[in-house]
Order: sequence, then structure tokens, then C-alpha cells
Amino acid sequence: MSKGAISFFQTVQDNFDKAAALTDLPKGLLAQIKACNAVYQMRFPVKIGNGYQVIEAYRVQHSQHRQPTKGGIRYSDMVDQEEVMALASLMTFKCAIVDVPFGGAKGGIKINPRNYTEDELQRITRRYTVELIKKGFIGPSVDVPAPDYGTGSREMAWILDTYQTFSKGEIDSAGCVTGKPVNQNGIRGRTEATGRGVFYGIREAMDVPEDMKAIGLEPGIAGKRIVVQGFGNVGSYSAQISQFEGRALVVGVAEYDGTIYNPDGIDIDALVKHKNETGSITKFPGAKMLEDKNDWVGLDCDILIPAALENQITGENAKKVKAKIIAEAANGPITAEGEKILLEKGCMILPDVYLNAGGVTVSYFEWLKNLSHMRFGRMEKRFNQNTYSNIVETVERLTEKSISPHERKMITRGADEIDLVRSGLEETMINAYHSIRDVKERRSKCNDLRTAAFINALDKVANDYISLGVFP
Ligand code: NAD
Repeated sequence: MSKGAISFFQTVQDNFDKAAALTDLPKGLLAQIKACNAVYQMRFPVKIGNGYQVIEAYRVQHSQHRQPTKGGIRYSDMVDQEEVMALASLMTFKCAIVDVPFGGAKGGIKINPRNYTEDELQRITRRYTVELIKKGFIGPSVDVPAPDYGTGSREMAWILDTYQTFSKGEIDSAGCVTGKPVNQNGIRGRTEATGRGVFYGIREAMDVPEDMKAIGLEPGIAGKRIVVQGFGNVGSYSAQISQFEGRALVVGVAEYDGTIYNPDGIDIDALVKHKNETGSITKFPGAKMLEDKNDWVGLDCDILIPAALENQITGENAKKVKAKIIAEAANGPITAEGEKILLEKGCMILPDVYLNAGGVTVSYFEWLKNLSHMRFGRMEKRFNQNTYSNIVETVERLTEKSISPHERKMITRGADEIDLVRSGLEETMINAYHSIRDVKERRSKCNDLRTAAFINALDKVANDYISLGVFP
């Protein structure tokens, strides 16, 4: 970020203020909603190599208007208190937008996971969890972490195991963390959930003809050219699902060590395989490497998906953007200066606070599954299957016509857990998009989707505080 540029935390605060000014909520209530309620900054020693290293880490609970609080844990050497506070605030608004009944939280450990062995990462994760337990910053009814940048289901399993070691037979202890492996009380569809939500969000926005006309695009995601920055969890699934289910063309992928481009489309499955085998997207045979990896921002495309970190599209590079839609899969990828330029150019920005909420939505489903101690679909799948079979047989008998075994299988199938998770996520992303869009259309002086999303969230959080009797 250039000198004098506005920080990520300040940008989140400014976005809040911009939306707050368009509501008629009392000042005291707005101040409470804006504040981070609890910030836990910790330092702890961990044996690394032959010596010890003091690790810097954080957990921030932004708002307890609903409990538990919820938010991912990030491993990055850029972690600091302000970054975690910004991310925790976004979580409060994100949960409100998708009607997930949690307050916002976030955690961060200031390490580059690439510099540590698996054993060392396990020691760091377990020690961090113990710190959270000691201070009452984790638990199924208190605060529930999840994966974020640099973490995944492996780290969540370590957190679960550490928590359960100390929780002495607590019946709902599996709900202390989400994003766990499926065989460790996780849920099918959580790993891909954020990327899948990104796809649903883009598809929904592109299905509104008048909005597409306003930015000079034909409606529909099919055939549109996509460039993704960051090919980790969120970026790779956003690309893969947009390509296979949306029939979009992914023409560019940027990573920290290089950017690849193919105007005819990149085979995303093959790229995932290549990255898993070589550890990098570079040297992928199905695309050419850009000389300057930072040129991803100006690649010719319709949709740009920043899916790495904050502050990637800035006052310096935003003018190079050719895409009409910027889909914020990452948190805070556009700086305030960058956003001004993009809006002046007439771009549509699908804001992080809505677009990447698929992760927390499916985390909510996982938490519910942990509390109910039962897989979704277990009770009704066979009942539905038998009912549909009876209907098909009755229709066949009455019409004296029969359908093929393939058609019968399709029509009579009962829903599995993965079907229900995807259906719940799709429903959530579609409804939330239209709630935000409605605010933008109806609220005077609200001209962009980010401000609309914040207004939508503020109204809901304020309503909770008012019903709690905290504010008159
Ligand atoms: P990840 O660690 O799985 O992937 C991030 C990828 O970005 C990595 O492959 C990394 O090498 C790459 N990257 C880092 N710096 C880069 C750079 N300068 N240029 C190009 N690529 C770069 O992380 P993730 O979970 O996919 O998270 C990505 C973003 O999405 C973060 O902002 C995170 O907060 C947000 N997010 C994640 C989730 C989730 O469920 N994991 C949910 C909501 C939001």
C-alpha cells in the first residue's frame, strides 16, 4: 500500500460511517455497533527447530448482539491487531446480511505457514487454542472459529482435539469450531462453500438484465471471461464452480509467484492438479506466464475476482482494470482510493461483506449439525425417495406410460447432506443479494452495493440491540 493510503481498518470504519449517515439510527447505538467489544492480544512461546519462538496472535470479538461470535483464523505474516479488528467487524455485518445468527469475530496468528513444518504448525495451533480456552474465547456457545487465509480443515481438527481435551465431556463440544474434516464432525460442502457462494452471488447479480445493461454486459454468467487473483481455497473453488456450473471462461489466474493467462480459457481442474503436484501455478502447460505478475489487474476480462488478501486493487492500479464486475471474494481487496476510481469508471463491485459470506453460512449449518448430533437428510431422505417413487408409479399406472431408469433415478432421489447444504447456501445467497439490491434501489443517496449491504446489516444489528432492551 502506498504511503498515506487509508488502512484496511480505517476503510471498514469509513464504509460503516458512510452507511450509518444514511440511516436514522441513534448515535449511541451506532457507536456501540461500530466498536470492537473485546480484543485479546497474546504472545506465547513455541518450540521451533532447536529453539523457542515467541508467537504473536489475536482473537477479536466484535459484537455479542448474537451469540456465539464467529469468524475465521488467519495465518499470515501481515496479521496485526487492526487487521483482525477490521475482519471481525466485517464478520458481524456479514452474518447479519445472510441472516446467520452470530456476532462477528476473527483470529490471527502472525506467521507465514510456509516457513514452518507440519509439526510446528500443529504446536502453534494447539497452543493458540489453549490460550483461547484459558481466557474463555472459544466454545460452542461463546466463540466459534473457522478457516481463513492460511488455514483449513487440518488446523480446525487440531483446534477441536485440543478443545475436547479440556472440555470434560461437554456434550456439544464439537460445535467449538467449524470447517472441520467431514469425519471429525464437519459437514459436506464446507471446504468449497465460500467459493460456491461467490459463484451464486455473481450469477445472481448477472441475471438482472437492467443492471447488466447499465454496465454494458449481456445478462448471464455463461461465456463471460473471469480472472482470479489467489488460487487457494476461495479462489480455486470460485473459478472451478464458475467454469463448470456457470459455463464461464477462466482466462487468467494470479498467484504470489506468477500470473498465467489464456484467452481461450484455462482448464481449472488441470490447474488444480498441477498446483497440487508442483506447489505452484507457474509452468502450467495450458497457459502463458505474464512477464510482470502484477499485470493480472489489467487483464482483458468481464469479471475480476480478487481472492487473496486485502489492499490489492489500489489508487495506483485501479485505472488499469478492464473488468466491468469486481467480485470481492477476499476480504477488503479494494482500497478506498481504488474503489473511488472503479466506481467512477462505472464498475459494479460485489462487496466482500456479502459475496464471501458462503463460508460462514455453511459453518452455521455445520454448527447446527454439531448441536443436533445428526447428519442433515438422515431422517427424511428415504421417506422422500419412497414418496416420489409412489408418485411416479401412480402416474405411470394412470397414463400407461413408463419413464427410463435414469429419469426414475433423477426424479425419485431423496436429498443427501451435500444437496441440502448447497440448496441452503444457494437460497441464502440469492435472498441476500436481492435484499441488498432493494436497499440500493430504494434508499436515496445509496448508489453502490457496499453501502447498501452495510445499511442492510446495520438495520438488522440495531434491531437486535433494541429488542435486547440495550437501547430504547
Ligand atoms: P488460502 O490461504 O487458501 O488462499 C489464498 C491464496 O492467495 C494462496 O494460494 C496464496 O498463495 C495466494 N496469494 C497470497 N498473496 C498473493 C498475491 N499477492 N497475489 C496472488 N496470490 C496471492 O486463503 P483463502 O481461505 O482462500 O482466503 C482468501 C481470502 O478469502 C481472504 O481474504 C480470506 O479472508 C477470504 N475468505 C476466506 C473464507 C474461507 O472460508 N476460507 C471465507 C470468507 C472469506
